[in-house]
Amino acid sequence: MSKRIIIVGGGIGGTIVANGLCNILRSEIARREISVSMLSATDKHFYQPGLFYLPFGKFRESDLYKNQKEVLDDRIDFKVDPVTKIDIQDNTITTESGNIHEYDYLIIATGSRIRPDLIPGMKESAHWFYDLDGARRLREALEDFKGGRVVINVNAPHKCPVAPVEVTFMMHSYLKKRGLLEKSEITYTYPIGRLHGIEPVSNWLEPEFESLGIRSETFFNTKEIVPSKRSIETEEGASLPYELLITIPPHSGAQLIEDSNLGIGGWVPTDPQTLLLEGSNNVFVLGDTTNIPISKAGSTAHFEADVIIENLSALITEGRWAKNYDGKVFCFIETTDERATYISFNYENPPKVGAPNQMIHWAKIGYNRLYWLSIKGLL
Ligand SMILES: Cc1cc2nc3c(=O)[nH]c(=O)nc-3n(C[C@H](O)[C@H](O)[C@H](O)COP(=O)(O)OP(=O)(O)OC[C@H]3O[C@@H](n4cnc5c(N)ncnc54)[C@H](O)[C@@H]3O)c2cc1C
Repeated sequence: MSKRIIIVGGGIGGTIVANGLCNILRSEIARREISVSMLSATDKHFYQPGLFYLPFGKFRESDLYKNQKEVLDDRIDFKVDPVTKIDIQDNTITTESGNIHEYDYLIIATGSRIRPDLIPGMKESAHWFYDLDGARRLREALEDFKGGRVVINVNAPHKCPVAPVEVTFMMHSYLKKRGLLEKSEITYTYPIGRLHGIEPVSNWLEPEFESLGIRSETFFNTKEIVPSKRSIETEEGASLPYELLITIPPHSGAQLIEDSNLGIGGWVPTDPQTLLLEGSNNVFVLGDTTNIPISKAGSTAHFEADVIIENLSALITEGRWAKNYDGKVFCFIETTDERATYISFNYENPPKVGAPNQMIHWAKIGYNRLYWLSIKGLL
């Protein structure tokens, strides 16, 4: 009987795994020994990193999307039918339309979602760029901004470890270009006792922020935002006023994960090396939805996808395990609208942050275009 592989989630992780498996297992698929299906919540594939540029007028909305079908190998049976329950005892999933699908191998790639609703006042009064509506509203707020106190308020957990840092640098460039820097003050807040969760990034940021006159507040855990006072109140008892508040809302995993009792907060307990659901030998997990304590980033999902493709195809065709995930992550960091640097690290080796330059900025801009080829496995 044919082996059924089902992928839940058509974001970066799910798409790369689906396309990669079709490429490696093309003979088995042609002989109908294997089928690859994908169930997702939407018919669109969304390039989330493009959202960061949108408020600054540096990315067109139409470049954020493609039809999911267009980015998938023709051999994938793709359906828009959100999954409502995963039953790992029965090896079945149930969908919103009431269909029940049996699987031999399951890949969970349902990502994460922003939760501004978890902090009183945040939804009503803060700006963010982590979804399309938020990025559009921030674009309007920036157009209307005449100067004042700008607060970049980071909450955890969140995806893309460096987007909060990038938006802080970008705000500085933006205000300078508009001649508003003299009339403004930028403050960056972070929940723990340093400027970033990744220590070398924090050490690099300190002098960079200082040289640009960017203020910072650490041990800053947002308790509430009070719109009438235009202030952020913290668990530590501090109060910080603002004229423009850009927040990175806390995140959780997909509702489906909690509804299926697969993980608290929607984060799935995942073996950091094998990427198998803990205690399972046929359910793989990747991308934002894992509980692995590394950065939730598109690059993480991509490197994890490569490992899953190799292992699953080797397991099915040769009955062997191919390799473990080493925790690799790579992130560009825009430091103005003309220069960037990057970090690259894994479980063993922490990142070193090099001096920003124009070439790395153009490499990131280039990647924004090449993304569509990379998820098809053409890069
Ligand atoms: C503003 C911003 C900037 C970023 N910048 C960068 C960057 O520069 N570099 C970088 O590496 N990363 C960046 N990221 C992070 C990156 O986009 C995410 O980490 C990445 O998309 C995670 O991939 P994923 O496959 O786990 O989840 P996603 O890509 O979020 O995909 C999840 C998929 O699951 C589907 N889904 C959810 N629930 C269900 C369900 N019940 N049933 C079926 N399908 C479901 C969704 O519809 C979606 O298709 C950025 C993110 C943002 C928001």
